[in-house]
Amino acid sequence: QIGLEKTLEHQKEFQILLKLYQEWNSKINLSAIKDEKDIIIKHFCDSLLLLKLDVFQNEQKLNVADLGTGGGFPLLPLAIAKPKYNFTGIDSVQKKLKIIQDIAHKLNLKNVRLIAQRAEDIGQKTKYREKFDIVTTRALAKWNTLLELALPLVKIGGRLIAYQGPQILDNLKTSEKTITKLGGKLHSLTQFSLPEKEGTRILIEITKKSHTPTRYPRPNGIPKKNPL
Ligand code: SAH
Repeated sequence: QIGLEKTLEHQKEFQILLKLYQEWNSKINLSAIKDEKDIIIKHFCDSLLLLKLDVFQNEQKLNVADLGTGGGFPLLPLAIAKPKYNFTGIDSVQKKLKIIQDIAHKLNLKNVRLIAQRAEDIGQKTKYREKFDIVTTRALAKWNTLLELALPLVKIGGRLIAYQGPQILDNLKTSEKTITKLGGKLHSLTQFSLPEKEGTRILIEITKKSHTPTRYPRPNGIPKKNPL
């Protein structure tokens, strides 16, 4: 229903992912989304919407980071659908990453690595700063906080892609200066509908045009407490 027939090649892996995710979710409360149909639409289809964007048509080996990956969305569905790309899941909560590790191992996903760190720290490390072709975020933080946490990780010429609801249209107007300050430029807004009328998503793409000033991201907690 979302026009991604190619992902049917991976049907078996998605069935395994569904089973493993449900098992973990019954042991540890990962997410309020527990019903099979809800998991398929609100986690799997929602994650896979990204594949409709032009950047994901690139056949080269891209480096993608999913910042604030939590229980592994959009990370895991993307890693299944795009075996050529390398994926890095980042989250400050080690416990959640252990679960993703277990699932990735059982699915034999060789293109997933996980890093238990805060965005404020990893964004200041030479090894990771401005090293990713694409950084995805779903439900990471409020808009201006998210920009400060995620844009430092994006390579020049790369993209930040953020899931947002319709309220973002008001925030965007006032955040232009922040985007520029962090080295970004608004590229596009794309609206998608989930199957079964489960809502609309706006995917915002920001291109990295220039280096993010080294003072960003600011130390732990400040991007949230005092957003740019
Ligand atoms: N992307 C997932 C999880 C969203 S919940 C999904 O959409 O289902 C937000 C996640 O971001 C949480 O797991 C939280 O631990 C993580 N997070 C929030 N602030 C963070 C920060 N500053 N650094 C690293 N991870 C952060």
